Amino acid sequence: MAWDFSTDEDYQKELDWADAFVRDEVEPVDQVIEHAWNVHDPLRNRLIRPLQQRVRERRLWACHLGPDLGGPGYGQVKLALLNEILGRSHSAPVVFGCQAPDSGNAEILAHYGTPELKERYLAPLLENEIVSCYSMTEPQGGSDPTEFTTRAVLDGDEWVINGEKWFSSHARFASFYIVMAVTDPEAPRHRRASMFVVPADTPGVSIVRNVGVWGHEETEGTHAYVRYEDVRIPRDHLLGERGAGFEVAQTRLGGGRIHHAMRTVGLVKQSLEMMLERAVSRTVSGRRLGERQLVQEMIADSWIQIEQFRLLVLQTAWKIDRYNDYRRVIPDIAAVKAAMPRVLLDVAGRAIQIHGSLGISTEMPFGRWALESYHMGLADGATELHKMQLARRLMREVQPVDDLFPSRHLPKLRARAEQRYAEVLAEFGAEQGGVAR
Ligand SMILES: Cc1cc2nc3c(=O)[nH]c(=O)nc-3n(C[C@H](O)[C@H](O)[C@H](O)COP(=O)(O)OP(=O)(O)OC[C@H]3O[C@@H](n4cnc5c(N)ncnc54)[C@H](O)[C@@H]3O)c2cc1C
Repeated sequence: MAWDFSTDEDYQKELDWADAFVRDEVEPVDQVIEHAWNVHDPLRNRLIRPLQQRVRERRLWACHLGPDLGGPGYGQVKLALLNEILGRSHSAPVVFGCQAPDSGNAEILAHYGTPELKERYLAPLLENEIVSCYSMTEPQGGSDPTEFTTRAVLDGDEWVINGEKWFSSHARFASFYIVMAVTDPEAPRHRRASMFVVPADTPGVSIVRNVGVWGHEETEGTHAYVRYEDVRIPRDHLLGERGAGFEVAQTRLGGGRIHHAMRTVGLVKQSLEMMLERAVSRTVSGRRLGERQLVQEMIADSWIQIEQFRLLVLQTAWKIDRYNDYRRVIPDIAAVKAAMPRVLLDVAGRAIQIHGSLGISTEMPFGRWALESYHMGLADGATELHKMQLARRLMREVQPVDDLFPSRHLPKLRARAEQRYAEVLAEFGAEQGGVAR
């Protein structure tokens, strides 16, 4: 029976190296650079490039990718264990070459790009010489992509794109955008849209404004409101088939969601560690905080929630490795995605409470992490939609009962058992029609 929670010794050594490297070399960089994705920032490059080189030498670069794309092909369980470490730091995913949205965009390009697009964009993207943006959500509708109105029309050998996109993260740093646009408005709802590569410097692409979010400290936001006005791109910048935009989107979203969850495990584990340190260090009314039962409850609840979530993430990662098909784990990924914001909000919230006024101050990171939970509950789809998807998938295989009472209605079970054991019951003189249990 194969059922194992241990990590092999050789890989544990890599994790130990990554743990120390992130703590000693990467976390300090978080304190002094503005945005790890900004490949145009000389300070960022001066500090991050040498760290990326050390990760490459250690053969831990782009661990989400297989050898065909320059990664070690470790699979999702190993990636999950590594991502737990990376989740503690803003810069670490970039230092290890597995940051969103570039990781998902690389998957799309690898699957659907022409050789020329791969050479021009995928190769430098995988080396983090450039970064990318995923431009799907629109100002008038995010949760239902069938309501998108951005249009792409074929004109000779060029596509002409017109429309607006909202919350296109990192557009201001990106060399290219992956854009979803309606190509076939009369087709069935999920065959109307297609996916395109749009070079950022194409005439007609403009950033209306860079929207900021609470909890992030950049002077300028990174979630762009983008306008596309008569943007002309070559015909071969279509990714996948015409009308297959939804299918192409799924290529990236499955992986992206579980990778966020892996990193969130790291964040909540860090919150708990900080909570524990405070509980055993701080004295209130002559006793350590950790001696108070209500504080103990906050610690215990956090540990239980983290371990439950971590197991769900790891089991989902294991299923992805086992089946090698994201479609088979859609309900699992939906569950992970829906659980993630709640775990982060609860644990970060308890960390604030245990640290008191210091906890809510900007001298500790918990407030940012609590707000981050709302990012998690929206980016890559709202929590409600993932819960609905999970519930629908669970109900899909279940047959309705053609009876007033459920199939496991206790009187029914009792009657069936009495019928089956009638002779034995008679032999022992047991009373029939007793209370069902
Ligand atoms: C940090 C962050 C980064 C992002 N990055 C990107 C990016 O790079 N590229 C990109 O394209 N988009 C990005 N997004 C946008 C994200 O995909 C959308 O926020 C998300 O799909 C929800 O769309 P919306 O914001 O328009 O909310 P709406 O669609 O207006 O929904 C608002 C709320 O209504 C509720 N709701 C909606 N539909 C239903 C339903 N059917 N049943 C029950 N309740 C429902 C939910 O509570 C939902 O949160 C990002 C968002 C965040 C927060």
